[in-house]
Amino acid sequence: MRRIVILGGGMTGLALAYLRNQNPAPGDDILVLEEGPQAGGSIRTLHEEGLVLEAGPHTLRTTAAAERLISGLDLTNEVLVADPRAPRWIVRGGRARKVIPGPAGLLTTAIPFGARFRALGEPFVAPRPAGLADESVHDFFSRRFGAGLARYAAEPLVSGVRADDPKTLSTRSAFPELWEAEVRVGSVLRGLLQAPHPPGPRFRPRTVSFRNGLASLTERLVARSQRAGVRVELNAEILAIEGPFDGDDDGIWKVQIADGTIYPADTLVSTLDATAFASLLETRLPRSASRVSALAYSRLAVVLQAFRPGAPEGRPARIRRPGPARRGVPVPRCPLSLLALPRSSPRGSRPDDLVLRRRARPVAPDLTEGDLLKLAEAEVRRLHPAIGPRVHGRVLKWPAALPRLPVGHHATLDLLAQDLAEINAGHERPRLVVTGSWRDGVGLGERIARAEELAPIL
Ligand SMILES: Cc1cc2nc3c(=O)[nH]c(=O)nc-3n(C[C@H](O)[C@H](O)[C@H](O)COP(=O)(O)OP(=O)(O)OC[C@H]3O[C@@H](n4cnc5c(N)ncnc54)[C@H](O)[C@@H]3O)c2cc1C
Repeated sequence: MRRIVILGGGMTGLALAYLRNQNPAPGDDILVLEEGPQAGGSIRTLHEEGLVLEAGPHTLRTTAAAERLISGLDLTNEVLVADPRAPRWIVRGGRARKVIPGPAGLLTTAIPFGARFRALGEPFVAPRPAGLADESVHDFFSRRFGAGLARYAAEPLVSGVRADDPKTLSTRSAFPELWEAEVRVGSVLRGLLQAPHPPGPRFRPRTVSFRNGLASLTERLVARSQRAGVRVELNAEILAIEGPFDGDDDGIWKVQIADGTIYPADTLVSTLDATAFASLLETRLPRSASRVSALAYSRLAVVLQAFRPGAPEGRPARIRRPGPARRGVPVPRCPLSLLALPRSSPRGSRPDDLVLRRRARPVAPDLTEGDLLKLAEAEVRRLHPAIGPRVHGRVLKWPAALPRLPVGHHATLDLLAQDLAEINAGHERPRLVVTGSWRDGVGLGERIARAEELAPIL
């Protein structure tokens, strides 16, 4: 009998348990341990006042693995697809301007002319200096595309999407496709345009959610997995892990949870955040534990608001400066803040008579929920002065939202790989497997892809 214990019941742990159990060998026993009262991890779909609100991730950019999972779970009819042409909005010179996602964004007037001109010369920039092992996103964009693009594109991208600082965030770890594109053909732009793709029909990613929110995915995973014999234990905070024990019939590992229960395991899969993982296994990770446990996470607040529409919405209004957003709320350090204001869910998941606005932003620890709601409402009203009254507001604070990957993070991961190789050496099946947004991709689509890759090797 093989006992597989998966630590953490978020998207990765649940997808892994389900996919591993698709082809069970006789006697396989799969257990997911989750400390929270519900499964899903960062996915937090709320149903309030007839609205579907996403207080964690709000959309899933699909990978081929994610598309397979969605159809395997019979969720295809529930899918809502975001409009791929919907622009993002950024603010420069007091005005909201459209940005088309992707390389075409270089052609938009959101970026000043001089910066655009310099950026288009990227293919002619000298190749990366030999020996440059990693670089901050700011330095990478400055070197390849010029200081203007680093300021007007990289900074809002990093602070808006990852709630991080472009001067410390690692390009190699956070944006590996950009880092690799440069090394492959000597130019990021050419590398992205000529990215190799596997044989067969070209995969086109979609940005999706579900009629009842992203939790549909994790709820369906739990239901299908449990029906097929997988155990998902909630309120099961893991307090200690002993092992690996050699040749022990009682399990290579012993996992103890808060109520004192001890679960034996032959294979342990951690999907935990870096801090929890390192504290539980530190003595088994002599090379990497101290570096993994030092990883910081961004602090975020998601502010969800529903407004009556008021007068028809036209072009976003001119923004007066200095406004409260410049005073009280952390904004990118350049005079441009990412004001994407995406609808809180893709088209179709909200009552037609309300307009939903969602902001995810880094927060100062002393801002209360009331402060955040006020600031976010003021920001919406500056952009949409004709909008009607706010009829619902909700704030969810994330003290540890997304991992902040420092320059040189790849060296930490190399040390971890050495520790894992030592633990797993000489064994047909791995004894310890480690995955997580701090190791191999932060997006939900990537998390599902990792689960699909790992399932057959457990
Ligand atoms: C606010 C926010 C917005 C985001 N927006 C997007 C987005 O729009 N699109 C996108 O693709 N991605 C987004 N992300 C990122 C994405 O949600 C995450 O990377 C992904 O959900 C991580 O899934 P996971 O299963 O790997 O980890 P997690 O979801 O973190 O799951 C790990 C689980 O381990 C559990 N755990 C921790 N310690 C213990 C312990 N000691 N014992 C037992 N259990 C434990 C936790 O409770 C958690 O459930 C967002 C994330 C946040 C926080």
